[in-house]
Amino acid sequence: MSFSREIVSALVLGVIALLVGIPTGTTGWALFIGSLLWIALQVLEFRKLSRWSGQPLTTPPNASPSWYNVSITPYRLLQRERGRSRRFLARMREVLGLVEVIPDAVIIMTPSGEIENFNAAASDLLNLNHDDLGLTLASVVRNPHFVAMLREEADDTLIEFTSPLDSDKTLEARLFHVEGGRIVVIVRDISELNRLLTMRQSFVANVSHELRTPLTVVAGYLEIIVDEQQDADLRLGLVNKLTSPLARIRSLVEDLLLLSRLESTPMPAQLDPISMHAMIQSAVNEVNGIAHSPEQISVHCTSTQTVPGLEQELYSVCVNLLSNAIRYSPEGTPVKVSWEEVEPGLSRLSVEDGGVGIAPEHISRITERFYRVDMADARTRGGTGLGLAIVKHVLRRHDSELKVESTLGEGSTFFCEFRSPEAHPVQAIL
Ligand code: ADP
Repeated sequence: MSFSREIVSALVLGVIALLVGIPTGTTGWALFIGSLLWIALQVLEFRKLSRWSGQPLTTPPNASPSWYNVSITPYRLLQRERGRSRRFLARMREVLGLVEVIPDAVIIMTPSGEIENFNAAASDLLNLNHDDLGLTLASVVRNPHFVAMLREEADDTLIEFTSPLDSDKTLEARLFHVEGGRIVVIVRDISELNRLLTMRQSFVANVSHELRTPLTVVAGYLEIIVDEQQDADLRLGLVNKLTSPLARIRSLVEDLLLLSRLESTPMPAQLDPISMHAMIQSAVNEVNGIAHSPEQISVHCTSTQTVPGLEQELYSVCVNLLSNAIRYSPEGTPVKVSWEEVEPGLSRLSVEDGGVGIAPEHISRITERFYRVDMADARTRGGTGLGLAIVKHVLRRHDSELKVESTLGEGSTFFCEFRSPEAHPVQAIL
């Protein structure tokens, strides 16, 4: 259709030339001028096309359909490609944004090992900055293990090395080859993971150690008890002696189970108000069994504040703090347990003893599982080494924390504070 229009325009010009040329006897000239006019029109269209080709993203300007058709097809192709590029760029920005927020360092290198790009975490973990772009990663991070990994370029190799910024931190690096020959290095901080692994290992070692001693005693006694050649009185006497190591194993297992329950069970949404007076009194009654005299523990409960919580857990806090106060105090030293209001809506539970006290360097560690200030002394004083770890967990679940004031040789006060629920500001959704 458009092609025929071009022919029509040529024919119209020819006819006009003939109409002008025949009567005047200048047909040749008229046809010549007509042709020149037609060529001029085409040159004009061609120039529009050639100007447009410098900016092919604008709409083609050709008025003549055949010339217009020459430009509209590449123009549409270009528009489609432009849309695709836009979508691709948006996706790239999204991916780069994600890479930017991940806590692991991501470094992209050229096939020859120069740094091409990196995220914010790479600056934090490896101290990379924009001046390092274009340098080789091995020349910026000079750790020998890291450099060896970069040199070997083996895919998915995992290495650990010390942070170049903080010698207490351990980093883990991994290398990948990606499309286009580029190399991606991912580095993450594994100090916390290592610390947890070490904690787990030492916890398992501690549990085994704590259980081994009473189990060895039980096994030794049992060997004699089942030996019929042994004296009957001796064997009967040993049966009674089994009670103490078995009680120790039982309290260890109970404390371990309680700790694991505290860590794995969430607090119920609805909590009963616990009367601290009654609870403290029953804890005192229980601990009086190990007290040096019934008068050793004095009770001072002046606050009437109740604590929303789990009675059994709060009871274990009182029993643990009171039994520690007795076990780490010389005979006859008074122990005082108080429940007092320190300010309106805030009451303090405290257990004060005049015992051995704790040196400042140990205070931050006494709530660690199985940590004892004096390991040798632990055997004679009893206890599982888990008491304060349990107290710490229970208090955390009850929005409180354990605090200690202690002077070596003079005694300690362990205390925690509970805010009354009514004292919390009321929040309302309007
Ligand atoms: P244990 O069963 O060994 O008493 P805990 O977790 O209850 O374990 O206490 C950890 C360590 O803290 C104890 O081994 C002891 O060294 C120290 N400790 C706890 N309470 C007192 C206290 N009232 N006076 C002095 N030292 C204490």
